[in-house]
Amino acid sequence: VKPAFVLFALAAVLSARGVTPRENIAALKELLAIPSVSTNIAETDRAVLWMRDYLTARGVWCVVETSSVDGRKVLYAATKPGLKNPDYTLVTHLDVVAGKPEQFEPFEKDGRLYARGACDTKGNAFGAALTLVRLNGKGSVGCLFSANEEIGGSSTKHLVDLGYGVPGKAVIVLDASDMPLNIGIACKGCSYYRVTAVGKAGHSSSPWKCENPIYILAEAALKIRDRYPHQKPGEYGNSAAVTIIGGGDAQNKIPGTAEMTVNVRFTDKEDGIERNRKLIEEITGLKTETIRGTYAAVSDPSAPEIRRVQALRRERYPEFPNNLVKGNGANDSRYFGQFGKPMMSSAMRHSGGHADEEWLEIADLEHFVDYLTDVCQCVEASAR
Ligand SMILES: [Zn+2]
Repeated sequence: VKPAFVLFALAAVLSARGVTPRENIAALKELLAIPSVSTNIAETDRAVLWMRDYLTARGVWCVVETSSVDGRKVLYAATKPGLKNPDYTLVTHLDVVAGKPEQFEPFEKDGRLYARGACDTKGNAFGAALTLVRLNGKGSVGCLFSANEEIGGSSTKHLVDLGYGVPGKAVIVLDASDMPLNIGIACKGCSYYRVTAVGKAGHSSSPWKCENPIYILAEAALKIRDRYPHQKPGEYGNSAAVTIIGGGDAQNKIPGTAEMTVNVRFTDKEDGIERNRKLIEEITGLKTETIRGTYAAVSDPSAPEIRRVQALRRERYPEFPNNLVKGNGANDSRYFGQFGKPMMSSAMRHSGGHADEEWLEIADLEHFVDYLTDVCQCVEASAR
């Protein structure tokens, strides 16, 4: 066998998954090197502007808006100038969780690219950018590049409130923290409540003259444990947890009030935040206020778009089960439930989100963009 033939055969195998061009890897490394930790607005701004410049240089229409919440920049880009309501809305993010300084020095090893954000989720965001470049002027695709997904995604909400990314056919969330074995089609609503117990303060040497709010609160916490309709194993339902509890400011004084935070994860489609507030208030008998919350986004697994994407995914990633799964956590699809379109997650081959060893598979980047291009062009699995 001639060496040239061996090389040719090897190239053929690699190209079955697409060969990721070196300039794409170099560009992604630049993006990964920006320490855009969610709380560091100067750096998330830098990542947003890097992405805008990358896309603008390739002719993709971009808008940078300033969040009304904290003044950070956030990016929307689309395959046609002014396209605010595309057929396919991609949702991803450019912020990352904190990492060791060396995690912002990307390096390659054994076909993997290691860096903070390689998995969660700049690798996926860069895949979205390459898809926009490929479909520029042809497809109907828009992408929201959130700048603070890891701390609630208010910048995503800001873009949605301004009317960017209203989906015509489906929402594809490009985000993951681990190898994407399955397709997420639901995220739960997430709400936080402040529950306050009011007693009667006094000196702790004579507790009989007081009414201790800490005891009232402790009993309320146990009522939540025992009476909140918890989800059973295997069921996709609501759950509640007391997460912070506090009260008192002196060692020898019974305080007048005590309060706790309750976190509820729910699947209720509408009014879930208020419904669960009332439920907590009913169960505890105590004043319950909403601190903040986001709604559930649960898609119908039989929606044709979801079936089509699942079939495409199975064709492109046959090594994974690619089942339709419902997640217990929240992601930025939380802001799109209001549009009533199918929503699903997608991601490239990678792992280690939020961990010290975070990486993506270099050869999969181009392959992932091929898959994403098919998704956004309405390609059916069998027609490829
Ligand atoms: Zn993420």
